[in-house]
Amino acid sequence: MTCLYIGLGVMGYYMAGNLSKSYRTYALNRTHGKAVLHAQEFGSVAIKDIRQVLGEVDFILTCLPTSKEVRECAEMLIEIGKAKEGAVWIDNTSGEPDASREIAEKLAEIGVDFVDAPVSGGRKGAMNGTLTIMVSGPASIYEKILPILSTMGKNISHLGDCVGQAHAVKGLNNLLFASNLVMGMKVAQALEKHNLNPDKALTAMLSSSGGSNALQRIHEYITHNRTINFRFIARGLVKDMNIGLSLLSNRFESDPSFTILSSIRDLYEQMVACKGESSDVFDIFEYIE
Ligand code: NDP
Repeated sequence: MTCLYIGLGVMGYYMAGNLSKSYRTYALNRTHGKAVLHAQEFGSVAIKDIRQVLGEVDFILTCLPTSKEVRECAEMLIEIGKAKEGAVWIDNTSGEPDASREIAEKLAEIGVDFVDAPVSGGRKGAMNGTLTIMVSGPASIYEKILPILSTMGKNISHLGDCVGQAHAVKGLNNLLFASNLVMGMKVAQALEKHNLNPDKALTAMLSSSGGSNALQRIHEYITHNRTINFRFIARGLVKDMNIGLSLLSNRFESDPSFTILSSIRDLYEQMVACKGESSDVFDIFEYIE
């Protein structure tokens, strides 16, 4: 089995690295130097153009910023028009459900099965091969790609038979994560302000009803002198929140719960505008302080 991994960023670089330990893997990235580094570090094969390998790859994987870049790659493939028979495209991008369904329909015309398989667990999970992977698409394809996904993640689940369902769940998950993060930071700042030991207090909360994955990360940040082994550009989280917000059942401005969630999205957007396009989600700690 031969794989092609497109998009060697914060996540894709390590996911493709783990993949290449078990499968012959071609690595492709917009900035070619990263693919060359990848080949040196993991033994993948760096390529510059999808045309070089298309006829021989069984699995195409993507971890690109948004569905827009995934669509562009799919259009390029459709233009070339000849993939290997039975080829499957696994999209690890946190993408948009509707866009993914459209991409899947177009790729089906040239005999390529497309499934969405967004991931969660950050750079650490990508490095350690312990990501949570959410998949949607036909069950038969899920069975076929499970060995591939198992090289990159530990908690892998099939969420539904329709393409786009996993992207929907991922968007809603990140809406929740982003909201928990801001609220947890506000609580951590209150602890500091009132001279309550943040380490002890957050540890207690983590095994109480206020605990969450976001609070766990805030605890790490606070107890490591405001540093954390977690890199997630804030504009990526805003993109995910927008996907989540678009799926809420009552999207009326008069609905307070929608207003709260969209205000949190606005806060991240304002922070990106203030601190720059490359700002990280943890930059919001100082922004709201
Ligand atoms: P990055 O921006 O770090 O990486 C994206 C990579 O894609 C870059 O290496 C970029 O190349 C490359 N790229 C962009 N366009 C193309 C193209 N047309 N052809 C080939 N390569 C291209 O993003 P992340 O790795 O952080 O995120 C990727 C996806 O994973 C996003 O959807 C994100 O929401 C999701 N995600 C991110 C997590 C995180 O903690 N970072 C966690 C879970 C999911 P170049 O080197 O030129 O910039």
